[in-house]
Amino acid sequence: MIASQDVTLIGAGIVGVATAIYLQRDGHRVTLVERDRPGEATSFGNAGSLAPGSIIPLALPGTFGQVPRWILDPLGPLSLSWKAAPALVPWLMHFRRACTPERVRRSAAAMRSLNRDSVDTYEELVATAGAPELVRRDGMLQLYRTEAGFVASEGSRRIRLDNGARVEVITEADIRRLVPALSPEYRWGFSLPDGGNVRSPLRVTQVLAAHFQANGGTIVNARVDDLETDAGGVRALLTSEGRMTVDRVVLCAGIWSRTLAARIGVRVPVASERGYHIHIPSPGIALDRPVTDGERRFVATPMEGGLRIAGTSEFCRVDDAPSWDRADALASLARSMIPGLDTSDFARWCGPRPSTPDGLPVIGPAPGNPKVLLAYGHGHWGLMAAPATGQVISDLVAGRPPRLDIAPFRPDRFD
Ligand SMILES: Cc1cc2nc3c(=O)[nH]c(=O)nc-3n(C[C@H](O)[C@H](O)[C@H](O)COP(=O)(O)OP(=O)(O)OC[C@H]3O[C@@H](n4cnc5c(N)ncnc54)[C@H](O)[C@@H]3O)c2cc1C
Repeated sequence: MIASQDVTLIGAGIVGVATAIYLQRDGHRVTLVERDRPGEATSFGNAGSLAPGSIIPLALPGTFGQVPRWILDPLGPLSLSWKAAPALVPWLMHFRRACTPERVRRSAAAMRSLNRDSVDTYEELVATAGAPELVRRDGMLQLYRTEAGFVASEGSRRIRLDNGARVEVITEADIRRLVPALSPEYRWGFSLPDGGNVRSPLRVTQVLAAHFQANGGTIVNARVDDLETDAGGVRALLTSEGRMTVDRVVLCAGIWSRTLAARIGVRVPVASERGYHIHIPSPGIALDRPVTDGERRFVATPMEGGLRIAGTSEFCRVDDAPSWDRADALASLARSMIPGLDTSDFARWCGPRPSTPDGLPVIGPAPGNPKVLLAYGHGHWGLMAAPATGQVISDLVAGRPPRLDIAPFRPDRFD
């Protein structure tokens, strides 16, 4: 029997909403505090992939050496703005340390533990919330135009296999058969057959938030400006709508968590790694599964209301003006991937991935303030990792042993 507690979550992105549901299922009185509307920040614009084999961090041996090139090529798949560079120095130092084969192996194993059951858990969540059509199991293809690019993916394929993910090499004939709309330039690749995808990242968060409310959960529309603490830990949230007394708090406000965490003395290195998408309402072609270009690092995902092309990593300050030419570059990349694609009309979007140097989120009690639980920094895979994050947070609140080893996600691992 779990003693019911009052739990307040800051941020109603997919991480906050999924976590709220698992806490609610344990019988707690749960309040989500959201300054805008659920799911409209980074969780709005992701590529919708739930590929439990996608466990490879950005920090790989050799990646750090490419930093000067990122700075010099503002339209490359990875870029770093000059203005952001000074503040990013500590992050880059941790990133450099994470670029060893051993650290990559550990990060990949931890990511796998978080994401292994992602498709199953989403299917259960959206079915319970009355929208089973939002999750599909179509697998995922990662394709290459050059043999050298494909050969270079051998190491990451090995890591996926070592962690129990299914990876199947496919032939050029398979590619033509599976995705006839693709350019014939794609001749090499592999499939992650266990992958799923969501047909609308926004609607997933909205549907789950509505389900949470229908079951008695509270969503307060307010901006949290500060956390008030005393010797016993956090006591209240100071919000745009006034002071809210709290008992347990979960900080799950994506990239914006870092400012609030700093208010209680927690300084996890989290960078704003902005991604872009274009959403094409009438693409004029049919794509029935997500396809990633493994060399140019973008993904095309069929979604409700059209085709989404997402990618790019722009390390910048959260409030820097968008570089919309990056979104336009995605349109031309997409045309070269799918020659028949109609890009005469599309919507552009960008949003900040909350990225840690080792690619893993922070999940666990705030150092020095255990009544606050941290659940942010999900980087490239926050949609996929949200349910397991919520399950672990619910274990910690209930005082149960967490269902997976949370040592790799410890908030103090960068100290
Ligand atoms: C282009 C792109 C493609 C991606 N593709 C994938 C993918 O295919 N699969 C995948 O798993 N992940 C993907 N991701 C990553 C994923 O989208 C993120 O990791 C995830 O959305 C993070 O969710 P979150 O809930 O932590 O943050 P957010 O969605 O940013 O939510 C944080 C919430 O906190 C609220 N908030 C902030 N500050 C305050 C405050 N002071 N008071 C109250 N509320 C506050 C915000 O308004 C927001 O609603 C992608 C990301 C990008 C950019």
